[in-house]
Amino acid sequence: MAVIGFIGLGHMGGPMSANLVKGGHTVRGFDLAPAALEDAAKRGVTTVSSIAEAVAGAEAVITMLPSGKHVLTAYDEILPAATPGALLIDSSTADVADARAAHQRAEEAGFGSIDAPVSGGTAGAEAGTLTFMVGGSETDFQWAEGLLEPAARKVIHCGGAGHGQVTKMCNNLILGASMIAVGEAFVLGERLGLSHQALYDVASISTGQCWALTTNCPVPDLVETSRANHDYEPGFASALMLKDLKLALSAAEQSGTDTEIGKLATELYARFNEEGGGDQDFGAIIKSIRTHSTP
Ligand code: NAD
Repeated sequence: MAVIGFIGLGHMGGPMSANLVKGGHTVRGFDLAPAALEDAAKRGVTTVSSIAEAVAGAEAVITMLPSGKHVLTAYDEILPAATPGALLIDSSTADVADARAAHQRAEEAGFGSIDAPVSGGTAGAEAGTLTFMVGGSETDFQWAEGLLEPAARKVIHCGGAGHGQVTKMCNNLILGASMIAVGEAFVLGERLGLSHQALYDVASISTGQCWALTTNCPVPDLVETSRANHDYEPGFASALMLKDLKLALSAAEQSGTDTEIGKLATELYARFNEEGGGDQDFGAIIKSIRTHSTP
């Protein structure tokens, strides 16, 4: 079992760090927000008052911050204070360029380094069933796999530096686009007099089957796990879906990739965010489809 410094104890980092403690690790956690620190302390995390204190003497450091920019800023404090040879694991969802910059800085300073964004949302973070998508060397991946086990259902090595982030944005491009398509299909069906149940019964076992339909169905009362049953309380917030789609779009532009559906999905989630849907589950996009359909 290891001593782990954990930076960023928010909606994801709080429960993740708690599961690492349950798994037998010693976790020293830091967050800028006093409420996050308090909550983590209640969950068994040893909370400290600075990044330097969290990382000193730790064999691994996990960052779970809002964006790649936040990670690079935190690295200004982590790199001088961390134990030489420690493994730096960034689990934030970040821009590929920021992730690669973080790797480079970590490696130049003599640390192991992986990008390891996650899928599974706050429910997966609480249950310790996240999927970690890892970019970095085989040695660092194997090291991380053992450490992350109490927070993970699966830790998958996706390739070299930044490939965890590439995998994450490609997965969420599929997810965002498929949620919009499922929402459009339900709204079209309801406007033509089709019951939600009939569409679900057929599509869920036919070629329309997908996670957006069978796990997080955007209409209520069809799937037990859906956030639609809880008035679209997230789950995975529309603001975060927009963030991830923008990351995918920016990578597509930089690489000259033709992602027209991704572009449209980004525009539709941006519109829903402007309409006030940012803090609702991303399945609530169905409301925006109804609003923009003719009465
Ligand atoms: P959050 O805003 O709840 O938590 C981020 C925490 O980082 C906050 O508590 C903030 O105070 C803290 N922080 C910011 N700068 C800091 C610094 N310099 N030092 C210490 N603490 C600092 O966000 P979250 O929902 O936990 O998401 C974290 C990351 O995980 C994001 O990159 C997000 O895109 C990704 N993610 C979130 C979900 C989800 O469902 N919430 C799912 C998958 C991935």
